[in-house]
Amino acid sequence: MPAARYRGRFAPTPSGALHLGSLVAALGSCLEARVQDGEWLLRIEDVDAPRVVAGAAEDILRTLEAFGFEWDGPVWYQSRRSEAYAEALARLARDGLVYACSCSRSQIRAVARRGVDGPVYPGSCRARADRPSRAAWRLRLPDERVVFTDALFGRVSCELARECGDFVLRRADGVYSYQLAVVVDDAAQGVTHVVRGADLLASTPRQIVLQRLLALPTPQYLHLPVVLDARGDKLSKQTLAAPVDARAPLPALLAAWRFLGQSEPGRVDTVAEFWAMARALWDRRRIPPLRGRRMPAAGLSAGSLRAPA
Ligand code: GLU
Repeated sequence: MPAARYRGRFAPTPSGALHLGSLVAALGSCLEARVQDGEWLLRIEDVDAPRVVAGAAEDILRTLEAFGFEWDGPVWYQSRRSEAYAEALARLARDGLVYACSCSRSQIRAVARRGVDGPVYPGSCRARADRPSRAAWRLRLPDERVVFTDALFGRVSCELARECGDFVLRRADGVYSYQLAVVVDDAAQGVTHVVRGADLLASTPRQIVLQRLLALPTPQYLHLPVVLDARGDKLSKQTLAAPVDARAPLPALLAAWRFLGQSEPGRVDTVAEFWAMARALWDRRRIPPLRGRRMPAAGLSAGSLRAPA
């Protein structure tokens, strides 16, 4: 059987405008797809309605356009996908793999150890017989080790029960979790390659176990270094990282290009020239295998960022 055609994606959460960190993920995922003659899809991850900022999705799309990104097919919105998430949850429930949990955050904090990504839920509600009216749904994690090979970081291994614990699939307020939504959507969109920030490296084993339990294929993963601010924290929309300026795309594109360790581009005067250069020179082997790094000082000249809103 011929190998499936490469299909990548960029999946921003519209909790704020596009900043340099998200531009790096957009650029890396897009170039990987293009040099492999693949498709590149765009998905707005607005599953968590309370976190969505009005107008942010439109702003992200406009900015990507101004930066010369071209995506294939229609944009997907997670806010329109509840039925698919409900179906996946029902399937896991039929297989006896979920349980209702009414523990509060403070109850969990009081008893849980810290894991790779927050407190490890100790399974307090696993054996309860009643069904609380307002409850989250958690995955009954099999006690196993997940191992995968990241294209940049190599072998990654996680003992899920010990390092993550039974994680939430649907919150008590009815919101489906990122882990469930991303797995259902990557499969529904036929994504073969996931290229995204290394802040999500710790999420990947949870997504792989969900893929297995839902009988969905596992894509290839490549986690890119994330952009750190002067304090060493990841740039993020929540901490109001300065948005990139849609009116000055070139300096930000070049900064993201250099951040990804790519070779000096020579003279580039327009966005079209940038993309022609980038498609010709992109080399995944040059990406530094770091979980995070600051923008190199030479990277960004003034005037390519807007003041945070
Ligand atoms: N929505 C996530 C974010 O904006 C990315 C999820 C993913 O790429 O899997 O950080």
